[in-house]
Amino acid sequence: MGGTEPSLPDGATRAWIGLGANLGERAAALRQAVQALAALPGTQVLRASSLYRSAPVDAGGPDYLNAVVEIATRLDAHALLAALQTIENGAGRERPYRNAPRTLDLDILLYGDERIATPQLAVPHPRMFERAFVLLPLAELAPARVPPEALRAVAAQAIARCQDSGWVKG
Ligand code: AMP
Repeated sequence: MGGTEPSLPDGATRAWIGLGANLGERAAALRQAVQALAALPGTQVLRASSLYRSAPVDAGGPDYLNAVVEIATRLDAHALLAALQTIENGAGRERPYRNAPRTLDLDILLYGDERIATPQLAVPHPRMFERAFVLLPLAELAPARVPPEALRAVAAQAIARCQDSGWVKG
């Protein structure tokens, strides 16, 4: 689902959401999350990256499946965050401890060109430039927002692109 940047509906902001899961039916959880994003008020899913498999960072447990989706949304950033948390909770997400394995993790990576720093929300996501599992899928969709030196900095991280190019529809 690459190609040129899809146009934006009136009044909408382009945002990029990071998705991850490392418990349960991981691909199904990510697919359902994309459907849930598409069902949010004033929100469209424009494109999805390939699926990636990565080893957990700073944590144990099974490998993650990760992806990034580009959305157009009329929700403001805090409303979007609240909606993502509702979707996570609906997927059975629990938070027993920091970096615990999770059925679904949704992060706002970028929200237009906004820089946000509130107690609830930091955008651009503060750790995105340290993580290959964010930068590789994001670079598929928004290469201009991922500098080559950022990709070089995460080149040693264990990550593989899955062949399943139709994962969103499949
Ligand atoms: P996590 O346990 O990784 O899902 O982290 C969730 C917490 O990170 C929530 O309490 C959010 O308020 C906070 N947070 C800060 N910035 C972001 C962001 N850009 N996207 C998602 N969650 C964020």
